[in-house]
Amino acid sequence: MKESLQTYIAGTWVVGKGPERVLRNPATGEVITKVLESSHEQVDFAVRSAKNAFLRSEWAHDVSTRVHVLRRMAELLEISADEFARLETKNTGKPLRESQLDVADSITCLRYYADFIESKQPWTKEMFDGTNSTITEEPIGVCALIVPWNFPLLLGIWKLAPALAAGNTVVLKPSELTPLTMLKLGVLADESGIPGGVFNIVLGDGAVGQALVSHPDVDKVSFTGGTESGTRVYMECAKSLKRVSLELGGKSPLIVFDDVDVDIAVDLALFGAFYNQGQVCVASSRLLVQESIYEPFLERLAQRMADVHIGNPLNEETELGPLISEQHLDKVLNYIHIGIEEGATLFCGGERLLALGELYVSPAVFINVRQDMRIVQEEIFGPVVTVQSFSSEEEAVDLANGTVYGLAAGVLSADIHRAERVAKNIRAGTVWINGYHTPHVDTAWGGFKRSGIGRELGIYGLAAFSEVKHTNLNRTVAKVGWFRDTQRV
Ligand code: NAD
Repeated sequence: MKESLQTYIAGTWVVGKGPERVLRNPATGEVITKVLESSHEQVDFAVRSAKNAFLRSEWAHDVSTRVHVLRRMAELLEISADEFARLETKNTGKPLRESQLDVADSITCLRYYADFIESKQPWTKEMFDGTNSTITEEPIGVCALIVPWNFPLLLGIWKLAPALAAGNTVVLKPSELTPLTMLKLGVLADESGIPGGVFNIVLGDGAVGQALVSHPDVDKVSFTGGTESGTRVYMECAKSLKRVSLELGGKSPLIVFDDVDVDIAVDLALFGAFYNQGQVCVASSRLLVQESIYEPFLERLAQRMADVHIGNPLNEETELGPLISEQHLDKVLNYIHIGIEEGATLFCGGERLLALGELYVSPAVFINVRQDMRIVQEEIFGPVVTVQSFSSEEEAVDLANGTVYGLAAGVLSADIHRAERVAKNIRAGTVWINGYHTPHVDTAWGGFKRSGIGRELGIYGLAAFSEVKHTNLNRTVAKVGWFRDTQRV
C-alpha cells in the first residue's frame, strides 16, 4: 500500500510536493496514515499527462481496450472488496456494512459501463435528401473529477467509469479527508493495464481543486460537493466555457401518508434520514407526516431511536458511526443550537456521546418547526431531522417543494395512484415511492434547482462525458446548383 500513498500521475507513483496531511480514523482518533498532497505544479503535470494520453494514445478510439480495463478493474476490486470496505470505514467512519455496499455498487458500475460501450451502436439514418446521417458520441478530452468525502470510492467511480468508458482521460481529486480508497483504486487501475496518463490522481483540498478546475487544458469538470463550492466551480468553468456537471446538496423530504403502517413508516424514515449518520446528499432530513398519524409516528420514532446501535463502525452490528471530522461536528452542533434558538423543539437526541469518542452525536429530531426556519431550509448533512405534519396532499407537495433544493424525495402510501400523482408534482431528480436511497446504476442521479446541473448514471452518465457529432454523408460529389453558374458555355 506504500506506493498508493503517493500521487498517481502519468502511470507512475510520485511523492506529493504539497503539504503533509494526517488522516485520522474518525471513530477512534487514531492516525491511519500521513499523505503528502499535490503541489500546483503536480496538478499541471497531471493535466498535461492526461492531455498527452488523450492526444497520443489509442485510448480515445479503442473501445475494446476500454472495455477490458473497466472489466479488469471490476474483477480486481471484487477480489479485494473486503480490504476496500474496511479501509473506507476506517477513513470515513461509516458502518462497515455500508462500505461493503459501496464497494459492491462500485463493481456493478464499472461493469455496467463496460457492457454499455461494448454494445453501443451509432445512430444512423437515410435522410430525405438521399444523404446518410450518423450520430456518434465522442470523448470530450481531459476531465477533472472532483469527489466529496461521504462516498469516496462509489462517487469517484460514478464519474470515473463513464468518463473512461466514453474515451476521456481524467484527473481525479478525492476529498482531502478521504483519499485512501481512491488511491488504492489507482493501484488496481495500474494493474488492469490502463495506459499511463489516462487516469491520474491528485491530492489536496479546495485550493488544489480550484487549480485543477481553472487549468486551461481541462475540457470538462464533473463536481460533486456542496452547493457553495459547486457555485464557485460553475463560475470558474464559465470563464472558458468548460463543460460542467454539478451534483450538489439537498434537503430532501419523505412524505408519509396515513394509510401506511406507522411501524413501517418509521423504519423507512430512520433508513432515509440516518444512513451514513445523515451525511448523504439525498438524506430524507425533512419528515412530512400526515396529521392523523403524526403523534403515533413520533412515539414510535422515539422508541426506535433509543435502540439504534451507535458505536465503532468496524463492528458488524453498528448502525451509526461518528461524524467525519471535528469541523463537521461543530457545524452539526451549531445547527442544533440554531434550531433551539429559532424556537423549534428538540424532541430527542442531539447530544454528544463522548463515551464513544470525540465525533459521536446522537441523532436529533426537531418538532414544532416552521417552513422558514434555517433547520428546515438549509442542508445540515448530519443526523438531524425535522418532522412536520400536513393535512392534505396539496400541502404535502407545497412543503416538499418549499426549499431551494431538489435532489430527492420519498413518498410512502398504500395508494399507488396517489403516490404517483404526488411524485409527479415533486420538483426533484429522484423520487422513491415506498422506498428510499437505492441508486440504480442504469437510471439517473442528479438534482433540480440548486441541487445541481446534469445527471450521473445510466445513459445520462455517459452523455455527460461525451460530445455529440453529426456526420452527414453524400455518396457522390456533385454540384448543388443553388447559385446560377453564369460562366457556363
Ligand atoms: P465540498 O464542496 O466542501 O467539497 C467537495 C470536493 O470539492 C472536495 O474534494 C473539495 O476538496 C473540493 N472543493 C472544494 N472547493 C472547491 C473549489 N472551489 N474548486 C474545486 N474543488 C473544490 O463538499 P463536502 O463537504 O466534501 O461534501 C458534502 C457535500 O457534498 C454536501 O453538500 C452534499 O450534499 C454534497 N454531495 C452531493 C451529492 C450528489 O450526488 N448530489 C453526493 C454526495 C455529496
